Amino acid sequence: MKLGNLAAVAAAGAALGLLGACSSSSSGNSAGGVSDLRAGTWLSGDLHLHSDHSSDAADNPIAELIPEAESRGMGFFVITDHDNHVDGHITTWDDPAYRSDTMVMLYGVEYTTARGHANLLGTQPFDDLPMYALRDRSDDAAGQAIADAAHAQGLHLSVNHPLNGDPWEFGFDMAIDSVEIWNAMYRFPTNNDDAVALWDSMLNSGRRLAARGGSDCHHQHTYEALVFNVGNPTTWVYASAPKAGAVLAALKAGNSSISYAPTAERVVLAADTDRDGGYETLMGDGARASGQPVDFRVTIDGARPLAAYAITVIRNGEVFLQKTVVGEDHLDFQDTPAAAARSYYRVEVRGTTPEAPAAGAVLGFYGNIIALTNPLYFNYD
Ligand SMILES: [Zn+2]
Ligand SMILES: [Zn+2]
Repeated sequence: MKLGNLAAVAAAGAALGLLGACSSSSSGNSAGGVSDLRAGTWLSGDLHLHSDHSSDAADNPIAELIPEAESRGMGFFVITDHDNHVDGHITTWDDPAYRSDTMVMLYGVEYTTARGHANLLGTQPFDDLPMYALRDRSDDAAGQAIADAAHAQGLHLSVNHPLNGDPWEFGFDMAIDSVEIWNAMYRFPTNNDDAVALWDSMLNSGRRLAARGGSDCHHQHTYEALVFNVGNPTTWVYASAPKAGAVLAALKAGNSSISYAPTAERVVLAADTDRDGGYETLMGDGARASGQPVDFRVTIDGARPLAAYAITVIRNGEVFLQKTVVGEDHLDFQDTPAAAARSYYRVEVRGTTPEAPAAGAVLGFYGNIIALTNPLYFNYD
């Protein structure tokens, strides 16, 4: 994905209407929120970015990109340059600027083929050439061959922007580890609702598949930065430790949610499946349904005073509950998941987006979507 010219951006914004909000308040993102979770740490990051090692991001040097991410308080980071721009000979990691004292660094590329894009994410530099050799395959087994080659190197394979101008045409009947349901701004240049609907259909089919975000940011010094930048959106993971392997494990499990900006609210869905008063089951986790009621809690970490949060709980692809809370940082609800069937619950939170770059919010590109969570699963194993 790459943005077109500014006129197209502005025209699309006008067509979408003026939906944004422009207050200047900020919010913290302290750990905490739901009690009784296993030991771990919340880390924010961006999982889809391009630097000057991509030919379409030549003005985006790593030496500027990484400090930008650090200044936004990110806990992990990866740059995913287009592998086709270097014929699979990845140079990003050899750049001496590819390091950070404060962020957990992952190693990634955007596997950029004529039949779609996917991110390969690893804990250390890897060999892209076995993947690159598969890029032109179009047979029915191509998708699984790609997944097998990624997993042979221990890589996380994550399909990017599955439905936009570079849709994923290898199919989904393959072992992908996550899918990018929120690329760049929620409403522009892609309407990410379509990717979310695709994801819901896969979840409803009985598949447990984690979702993530990615800014797909290409530039820091052009009009692009007026509407979005590093961390729009941000993916939060609850990692067992601040280490690359733990970040990828949390990402694959779906112990994560997506927020529109790195300094925005973080939304957490957890449940007390054994009704002992502690919310020990986190989004991404699976539990057995006993036929007894389950207590759920949606927490908005970093909630702004007096802000209104429109919370939607989706159960099995359908709206289960909609409620707006004002001046509250959580919503409790109860349901009895069917004992003899699969169920999943996930959360969307809407409201104002004051932490978004102002022009992007005013143009309606953020769609007033604050955050989405991964599902909490019952009977999926
Ligand atoms: Zn792409
Ligand atoms: Zn990209």
